[in-house]
Amino acid sequence: MTKRKSNKGQKWNLKTSTIHAGGHPDKETGAIIPPIYQTSTFVQSSPGKHKGYEYSRSHNPTRSRLEECLSALENAKYCLVTSSGMSIAMLMMHVFPKDTPMLVGDDVYGGTYRLFKSIFDEYHNIKFIDTTDTKALEVMIREFKPKLLWLETPTNPLLKITDIKATTKLARKYKCLTLVDNTFMSPYFQRPLNLGADFVMHSMTKYINGHSDVVGGTILTNNKKYYEKLWYLQNSIGPSQSPFDSWLVLRGLKTLAVRMEAHQKNAMIIAKWLESHKQVESVLYPGLKSHPGHKIAKKQNTGYAGMITFFLKKKEVKFSKTFLSKVKLFVLAESLGGVESLIEHPAIMTHASIPKKTREELGITDNLIRLSIGIEDVNDLIQDLEVAFKTIR
Ligand SMILES: *Cc1c(COP(=O)(O)O)cnc(C)c1O
Repeated sequence: MTKRKSNKGQKWNLKTSTIHAGGHPDKETGAIIPPIYQTSTFVQSSPGKHKGYEYSRSHNPTRSRLEECLSALENAKYCLVTSSGMSIAMLMMHVFPKDTPMLVGDDVYGGTYRLFKSIFDEYHNIKFIDTTDTKALEVMIREFKPKLLWLETPTNPLLKITDIKATTKLARKYKCLTLVDNTFMSPYFQRPLNLGADFVMHSMTKYINGHSDVVGGTILTNNKKYYEKLWYLQNSIGPSQSPFDSWLVLRGLKTLAVRMEAHQKNAMIIAKWLESHKQVESVLYPGLKSHPGHKIAKKQNTGYAGMITFFLKKKEVKFSKTFLSKVKLFVLAESLGGVESLIEHPAIMTHASIPKKTREELGITDNLIRLSIGIEDVNDLIQDLEVAFKTIR
């Protein structure tokens, strides 16, 4: 497929790429929006002779366009799009031979934890570690000799920040590959490959698509060998994304920049408001000066996105439950990164698959509430939260 080219090889800014990368007009009709190639198979002019597409599990032109766009955004040579973030994690686990030692952040997405802890723990040798503690990490990497370090920054739900540049440098020294799950930041605010990571993945379900109407995943790398392995696995196992879903993500991506700016603007205001609230014990938002990872975030990110975690002063779970049932504008639901604001209780909802004891050791307590700030009017959001606060006073 012919790529959409800039004038005289000019390098497009990310904002421009969200709209134009992978966005060349349709050759046959001139349609400026790519068609949804809703087809399972493609004609061959003679056996084995085709136009690069044979079967949609392997490749699909709509999905290819999305892969082209994402590659431009994450500054990657190779991109693979699948039907969910978890299927990306599953494919990555299959890339490595049995019993590979791996290190995973101890505060990763609940589903990632479940997949690694209850399915791949018999296949690989997986250990969990706080990736923000560089000293402990170095000791572990030196002794355990992992082949892969899997980290999220900011983490979920505690929004801990790992220094990507320092950590990937450290891992490289010991010949360990690094993968950054960049779901919480999106390429608009954080580009891990530029900071030394070998792989970057996203649950596209969140900010990348941004409209809470698609489940999808992507992985990007500059390493051809690993890309080819991943593609071979996707084609063999089959978690390919449908053309329609890829098309929706392409559509969602066009507004990534304006959405991310709006999420962040609202989140900053709400984080500051919560921080000064009498009923709040503490607030975690990487954009706040009080956040322990603020300095690193400021260095490696161009913004802080829309996720906020806060702790109620009243610690019993009944207060959290009341609070969550009294908000009306915030939608009580799992997931994040959509234009609408969501509220959830990690201990009961997203992180319920982590045993209570481990959860509490990690700091995911019963008074912890997570917000995904949408792009609504910020005063409406604050008013909604204030009503909930009043009910538990
Ligand atoms: C949602 C999420 C995933 C899993 O992605 P799905 O698209 O739900 O399969 C992985 N990592 C993070 C950080 C997530 O938020």
